[in-house]
Amino acid sequence: MSALQQNTVVGVIGAGAMGAGIAQVAAQAGHSVKLYDNRDGAASSAIDAMAKQLAKLVERQKFTTEQVQQILSRLEVVSSLNDLANAGLVVEAIVENVDVKKAIFDTLESVCATDCIIASNTSSISITRLAAGMQHPERMIGMHFFNPAPIMKLVEVVSGLATDSTVAACIYETASNWGKKPVHAASTPGFIVNRVARPFYAESFRLCQEHVADCATLDALIKSAGGFRMGAFELTDMIGHDVNYAVTCSVFDAYYGDFRFQPSLIQKDLVDAGFLGRKTGQGFYSYQEGVEKPKAQFSPASSVPATPIKCQVSKDMGHLTGLVERLAQAGIQVTQESSLAPGYLKVGDAWLALTDGRMACERAIDEQLSDLVLVDLALDYLAVEHIALSRSASTSDKSFEDVVTCFDLAGIKISEVEDSPALVVMRTVAMLANEAADAVLQGVATAEGVDTAMCFGLNYPKGPLAWADSIGVAKVNAVLHQLQLSYGEDRYRPSLLMRRTAMTGGYFHGE
Ligand code: NAD
Repeated sequence: MSALQQNTVVGVIGAGAMGAGIAQVAAQAGHSVKLYDNRDGAASSAIDAMAKQLAKLVERQKFTTEQVQQILSRLEVVSSLNDLANAGLVVEAIVENVDVKKAIFDTLESVCATDCIIASNTSSISITRLAAGMQHPERMIGMHFFNPAPIMKLVEVVSGLATDSTVAACIYETASNWGKKPVHAASTPGFIVNRVARPFYAESFRLCQEHVADCATLDALIKSAGGFRMGAFELTDMIGHDVNYAVTCSVFDAYYGDFRFQPSLIQKDLVDAGFLGRKTGQGFYSYQEGVEKPKAQFSPASSVPATPIKCQVSKDMGHLTGLVERLAQAGIQVTQESSLAPGYLKVGDAWLALTDGRMACERAIDEQLSDLVLVDLALDYLAVEHIALSRSASTSDKSFEDVVTCFDLAGIKISEVEDSPALVVMRTVAMLANEAADAVLQGVATAEGVDTAMCFGLNYPKGPLAWADSIGVAKVNAVLHQLQLSYGEDRYRPSLLMRRTAMTGGYFHGE
């Protein structure tokens, strides 16, 4: 089935944050839209608010006045579900409650034609469950928009067990015509984004809980070295800890308590205290007037060295090649030394290497290196401005300072973090890739679908699987293995697909 024709009437139920946005998207795409909300005046207020928003967009020359008039003329407030009789698609965006949603679908089936597609914008309820008991469960589908719907590109097109594949294809094509980035997903807990994103929060919370670094430093590292728009602490303060914690708990419960999704005690504490984030004036950070946001902690470099710094690097620097280039560009004398093991850089007595998941203390013993410094993963070593280093207990202050000075000369600020497996960005990316791989393994979506979902639903700088490909799947698998060894926890078990791809030297996205 191809996309819905533009002359198809679209019904939207629920005129809250999501319903209003979805109605706007459909009207912008040229459909006549009927908006229904059971709260008196809610739908008309939503359209008034939309008109104000669109007027601002006219000022910013995103739309002409005529275009806005046309969009608004296509929106109609209706006062009963019976008014949706001629709709070819109805998108439900009401309260997140199975029984209330099912009651709506029951009524819709008695009102709408049998070929009307019924879609739910639910974030967490199984589409299979919502369709159960319907007369025509094959027309039930998830159409999961992200907030704010007119801006966020991603739409997860979620098929339940009974969903007809032609209905899924039609909604995919329709969303695409509406200017969205649709991704097919099977109806499993959290669908794609709310599942694959769990480690983004969980790993930062754990690093904070274990005093590897403070929240402000971790947020800054995730942004600068990881390229993410926000760190986990500022992001969850914005989302609201009640909301974010509830999503984590619902995914954890839905997977029968799989430790991979275990909620964080430090976040639960915030919820228990009523410190829900920005909206209550206190979360991980304080938003009280006059309180300054804490700043990231940086490690001081030594004053400008008297003699030029010299580095020796191995022939194959692997993922750190960009860093070596950066140091050379900064005027540091870099020479290749064939006797150095692959991936090592030597400055003075210090040995520098990319984390492989082992703690520095462990790797220093394994490889008998007394002055070992580990560097974190960066999205782009040529551009990174701030990155984490850790060191083993046997690394002298002088050796550590020599490494910091090197980075300083190249314009890269350093935060020394506690010696912990896989540092900050590597650990987060490895866990995101692992969850993404598991979702692919279980047929929730394709590798391309998962990466698209994470980039367009949450603005990730790179799809987790594409990122694993660029680091090397075997290396990511090894990092996870080390994390699992260090913690002895199932949470870090590599997905079978991660292991298999690593073993066969393959890629998630082909060569
Ligand atoms: P909201 O509370 O802002 O709006 C819900 C609207 O539905 C309200 O206006 C309410 O009056 C109306 N409503 C409730 N019961 C109704 C009924 N029986 N009949 C008609 N109208 C009814 O909620 P929201 O944030 O827009 O979320 C709506 C749905 O979208 C939920 O399923 C939610 O899980 C999902 N969702 C939310 C977000 C988000 O970030 N807010 C993102 C994606 C999906």
